[in-house]
Amino acid sequence: MRKRNFFAGPSVLPVEVLEEIRDNIVDYQGQGLSMIEASHRGGMFEEMYDQCLDLFRKLLGIPDDYDVYFLGGGATLQFTMIPMNFLTEGRCADYCMTGTWSNKATKDAQKLGRVNVLWDGKSSSYTTLPDPSTLKPSSDSAYVYLCANETIGGIEWKSFPDTGDVPLICDMSSDILSRPVDVSRFAMIYGGVQKNLGPAGATFIIMRRDMLDRRNADLTAYMDYALHSKEKGLYNTPPVFSIWAVKLVLEWIVRNGGVEGMDRRAEEKSGMIYSVIDSSDFFRSPVDKAVRSRMNIVFRLPSEELEAKFISESKAEGMLGLKGHRSVGGLRASLYNALPVEDVKALADFMKEFERKNG
Ligand SMILES: *Cc1c(COP(=O)(O)O)cnc(C)c1O
Repeated sequence: MRKRNFFAGPSVLPVEVLEEIRDNIVDYQGQGLSMIEASHRGGMFEEMYDQCLDLFRKLLGIPDDYDVYFLGGGATLQFTMIPMNFLTEGRCADYCMTGTWSNKATKDAQKLGRVNVLWDGKSSSYTTLPDPSTLKPSSDSAYVYLCANETIGGIEWKSFPDTGDVPLICDMSSDILSRPVDVSRFAMIYGGVQKNLGPAGATFIIMRRDMLDRRNADLTAYMDYALHSKEKGLYNTPPVFSIWAVKLVLEWIVRNGGVEGMDRRAEEKSGMIYSVIDSSDFFRSPVDKAVRSRMNIVFRLPSEELEAKFISESKAEGMLGLKGHRSVGGLRASLYNALPVEDVKALADFMKEFERKNG
């Protein structure tokens, strides 16, 4: 029997997608070779890649003046590439420090240029977010940076600041395609695919083309977005396996109601767990209710002993990945797009039963 997979990343994939990979891994659609042993130039890979990019555009409603492609290096490489390209001489960049991932991005940018911390959630231990309407970019701002969903802290922006003419750049690694997004409000959206879109290896980049005019044009090849944009991510060998799987996941999303379908699923699934937490004094959510994440639900029990017991007993029931990140402790259930509703129902039932026995 398949485990119920609550891992934060890499994470659950639709079983149909895994079966499709299994059925095609040796001989891709009768073409006599595997997708992962074909050249990435022309032929079956590029045909599949173009379909993948096209699906991504359609699902997210990405306007025509944006480039879309995949790179390697994880979301983490973007923490460096973004300031290298856009934090140009004489300007500063505005960063919102809201938890582990945006803080890492901020620290990397600080090594490369002048950074203004637009907001810092430190005093609340990164359990809340600012009112977006209170955030005003600096007068010499090259861009405003934020992370849509803090995967470790379990908080998610419910709406985004209006930064006017200042480009808004967003890490959507852990909530991409879980809700509709007005892409035109962002200059750049990016993320690793291994949370909501596929197996580890690829990073999606969505960038308004006019951003290339603002970049530092004096970079080495791989660091330069203009080169990747021109080659649609195929300047060097792309992570072909990961991209193939992403394409299959995108098709699965289409079959399951598109981004609206994922939005409803996220609401339903997170609602099941939050309602158990909210109706009990045994479970406690450490984060501000107004901004709690639908993807990563962080919660605590009355003691660390009970938390350890919860983790080992849930594991015995076939539920994996419920231990909180080592930096914050406690428990975390990641409920990404592909996680079946019934698995979340099973967790909610397990939580109620655990409280009855130990509360
Ligand atoms: C996982 C994660 C990252 C880091 O991704 P890598 O692909 O491991 O570099 C960055 N940002 C967010 C929001 C994440 O969830």
